[in-house]
Amino acid sequence: MEKLIEVKNLRTYFNTPEGVVRSVDGISFEIGVGETLALVGESGCGKTVTSLSLLRLLPETAEVSADSLDIAGIESIDLTKEQARAMRGKVISMIFQEPMTSLNPVFKIERQLGEVFRLHEPGISKQEVFKRSVDILQRVGVPNPAERLKVYPHQLSGGLRQRVMIAISLASSPKLLIADEPTTALDVTIQAQILDLLKRLQEEMHMSILLITHDFGVVSQIASRVAVMYAGRIVEQGMLEDIFENPLHPYTELLIASIPGIKVTRGGRLQTISGTVPNPLHFPEGCRFAPRCPYARDICSRQEPQEIDIGGRRVSCHLRTEDKGGEQA
Ligand code: SF4
Repeated sequence: MEKLIEVKNLRTYFNTPEGVVRSVDGISFEIGVGETLALVGESGCGKTVTSLSLLRLLPETAEVSADSLDIAGIESIDLTKEQARAMRGKVISMIFQEPMTSLNPVFKIERQLGEVFRLHEPGISKQEVFKRSVDILQRVGVPNPAERLKVYPHQLSGGLRQRVMIAISLASSPKLLIADEPTTALDVTIQAQILDLLKRLQEEMHMSILLITHDFGVVSQIASRVAVMYAGRIVEQGMLEDIFENPLHPYTELLIASIPGIKVTRGGRLQTISGTVPNPLHFPEGCRFAPRCPYARDICSRQEPQEIDIGGRRVSCHLRTEDKGGEQA
């Protein structure tokens, strides 16, 4: 796999009056060229902070460190603000759950889309901007694009707003698109259409996607690889089919079992995930999932499991370490 992104031991901490919040606490992953990696987990597990760390779009209180943060061949951990700004858009773009938070309500679509073309190609003619704007809206499936350029965001439906947001993100031809819960605010039919669109655009543009979601149902429709995140750590990662057929980490198993209509649990006894995610100010000793894990044993609350490799899958769980005869990576 030709790598576009390689993250090694990324940590993003926030200094607060209550103490240090360890939102992302030592994660490593790769994204291949043209690949979709889904980062999955419950809200508050560190997924969005991970993506904002890649974009370097974090408040001053954040401290980001990593052994390596290689983005398209550039070591990005020590980029200045200006360098990071140049990288955004050109290399990485992002779409959000609710397009109204990123579309400016007071400007027509034409101006917001045109700005991206002008930013990346100063001196471009008005006619060329118009032509490219119509082209890209057509590409993302907006009907009557020339007319739609003349309207304000609130005059569009939720599905069309998301398509316009995708068009704006793609106008700079990024190598990586980060899609943060891109369909959560949409109804099921529109959701499927937007996922199909992302898939098609990815193939046409040979772009990579980092999909951030809590929903394994969405993952199954679009991802090629999956990284499951819990309490600031990646607890399991591997190919989509392998993870779906045989989840190795109990948390992954529970997430998959909570998809309506899917029964993959051992003995069929797991259905919901009881309890809540731990407070990142005070993670529990040992395995962070232990207070909620139906398979937890003594060692789990005493000793943190190390990540091990099982046939190309990476997982952190004492059960798997025992399966491997106690070997720890
Ligand atoms: Fe459950 Fe123990 Fe594995 Fe953690 S290490 S997921 S508590 S079995």
